Amino acid sequence: MFFRNAITPTGMFVFANIAFSFLFNSAFGYGLAVVYSLFTSILLFTFKSQITYSVVCMSGAIIAALYCPIGLTFGPPDLNAMTSMTYTDKTETIEFLLSISIWKWLISLSIILMGISCSLLKSKTSFVVPRILSIVSFITFFSMPIKAAYNDSTFSPLDSHYPPIRFVSDAFSAYKQVNADKEFYEQNVKMSDEWISNTNDHTYDTLIIFIGESVRRDFMSAYGFPVNNTPFMQSAPGITFTNYISSGPATVLSLTHSLYRVKNGLIEYNNSIVRLLSRNGYYTSWISNQGVFGSADSPVSLAGKQADDYHFVKNGSSNKFLYSPDDKMLPLLSEALARKGKKAIFVHLMGSHPVACVRTNDHYDTFYRSKEVSCYVQSIKNTDALISNVYEMLRKGSDTWAMVYFADHGLKVVDKGTVEERFQHADQYQNNYDVPMFLTTSDMAEKKTISAPRSGFELIPLITQLVGINEPSTYVNCNLISDEICNDERMVLKKDGTLIPYSSLPREEALLTFRL
Ligand SMILES: [Zn+2]
Repeated sequence: MFFRNAITPTGMFVFANIAFSFLFNSAFGYGLAVVYSLFTSILLFTFKSQITYSVVCMSGAIIAALYCPIGLTFGPPDLNAMTSMTYTDKTETIEFLLSISIWKWLISLSIILMGISCSLLKSKTSFVVPRILSIVSFITFFSMPIKAAYNDSTFSPLDSHYPPIRFVSDAFSAYKQVNADKEFYEQNVKMSDEWISNTNDHTYDTLIIFIGESVRRDFMSAYGFPVNNTPFMQSAPGITFTNYISSGPATVLSLTHSLYRVKNGLIEYNNSIVRLLSRNGYYTSWISNQGVFGSADSPVSLAGKQADDYHFVKNGSSNKFLYSPDDKMLPLLSEALARKGKKAIFVHLMGSHPVACVRTNDHYDTFYRSKEVSCYVQSIKNTDALISNVYEMLRKGSDTWAMVYFADHGLKVVDKGTVEERFQHADQYQNNYDVPMFLTTSDMAEKKTISAPRSGFELIPLITQLVGINEPSTYVNCNLISDEICNDERMVLKKDGTLIPYSSLPREEALLTFRL
């Protein structure tokens, strides 16, 4: 009876207005803000003029709808999101938007439709609440800054936890931080390095380091995954690290803490592994399929630009809009390998970065759970084949050599059990940091595994130990290429840049092989 009576223009307006307020406040990624939503609704009810109401409602709807797919997927704007945005080019942005679930886009659309409905219904009703209540709403929105002002007599409206205000405040402080970081590393990188050259006799003429992208080791058959997608890693002589974790959950965060020396929490952009190898007599090359990231140089591509010779393949040719297979780097790799003398070659793969079906051009040999997961499994297989190819090139040469492969971070599985099941960047689970690490050299004839805990923070000492460089500042009194336990507790970076113990993170619940 009540509901039938409520189906009047006024009833529908009240309902739509409340629903809109909830959708609007949830769009920024801070969860369901019940109290703020109710007071947003009350504020809207105090508007007498239809024009004012519609302008406020539609402006809010547009802002919320624009951020909603990102907010609901990745949460509020933070340092990591702002960093990615700063160093992302047009094609990467399109891929990023493609990786968001269709449902989130539909919610975004529903915010606009709800805003339009509210505006139309407003003209059919004269329902308003006393204007004095708008003051109550404002007091609620600014309750946090008011409390702070009362406690320590400083009032800043940006301290409000009202979602749209918090959104602006978070975005602004992340933006400021990214710019400060950028200024810092651009200055820092200009300084000369402080590495000391000191190579011992046990060294290799050629060193190849493959930097993998977005690879979770539990999706590799070398680590027990049921689809055979790493035949090379499983059969080649060498060492498989079964407990190596990345330092961070995203490319820039992770690689800056692996490729540069970090002292007292500060990254020294002038002291990269690239320059360390250079200083020890290696001719350095950097071959990347990741592009130089639009107009701005990311701190990762700057490490590449410190090499004696560098190529960013993705920027060079774009015969197909998004598809840019890592194989494109093979001619450059073989050219770099043909160079006489000591050389270190870095290969930055596009690997398994979401959207995986863009990596494989929609191709996969084996269907596994969903199309995107199948492409992901395939992308790992393609990387394995590429590494195998380079391994054969190395074996044909007469030099002594070492080859290392690791990945920058893992991912998490989202929309589990649906046809849309796929991967996303995350820092919630240990699995988001569980990456492969494989190394092999010209003098290894057997397969071995190392299960001692290792971390991306130890990449530089691991490489120096491998090639026999004695650099005092990276010296660790422990053999990293053995099963010796070298650290009690490993730390990882959360996406906001804070450090937490890896052991404090939960594990992601295992996937059932077959979708139910
Ligand atoms: Zn990455």
